[in-house]
Amino acid sequence: MPFTQAPLPYDFGALEAHNMSAKTFEFHFGKHHAAYVTNLNNLVKDTPMADMSLEDVIKASYGDASKAGIFNNAAQVWNHSFFWNSMKSGGGGAPTGDLAAKIDSDFGSFDAFKEAFKTAAATQFGSGWAWLVLENGTLKVTKTPNAENPLVHGQKPLLTLDVWEHAYYLDFQNRRPDFITNFLDQLVNWDFAAQNMAA
Ligand code: MN
Repeated sequence: MPFTQAPLPYDFGALEAHNMSAKTFEFHFGKHHAAYVTNLNNLVKDTPMADMSLEDVIKASYGDASKAGIFNNAAQVWNHSFFWNSMKSGGGGAPTGDLAAKIDSDFGSFDAFKEAFKTAAATQFGSGWAWLVLENGTLKVTKTPNAENPLVHGQKPLLTLDVWEHAYYLDFQNRRPDFITNFLDQLVNWDFAAQNMAA
């Protein structure tokens, strides 16, 4: 059965009030994300990977030069679905409950977490992703290049921000730092991150 693109968890225009336009979703979800799904299905057609879970394809193809195209497209399918869920209308601000306590405990403070996340997202040279992950029971901020993600490093992802230029160019042009701040202040879906931590 072919891999499919999970629907957006909100309408294209749902985040317009938070500086992420319907136009961005038209391209980012409708073209970029969709193309990764099409490419992945073409690459694994009639191979054993066509019947594997997306996560298993990602783990099995990582680090295998002959499967670089499969890895890149499979991971980008997964990363984007995770990214859409990392945002919501009326998101941002600080988490609550167990996640807030864990962030205070592992980073020292919520502000220290924010600084670490901003730095990771801003300093990922070229294309990639910034993440909040759980590794051996400790929260960490990481960044990955291109399609790479925490699943291949034995980490549990809680939250991500796409810092590929295509993620912000229509709304922020070259201003990646403003895009990052906007994500933290107005878009982060802390409920999603908390669910991932508890899962
Ligand atoms: Mn993207």
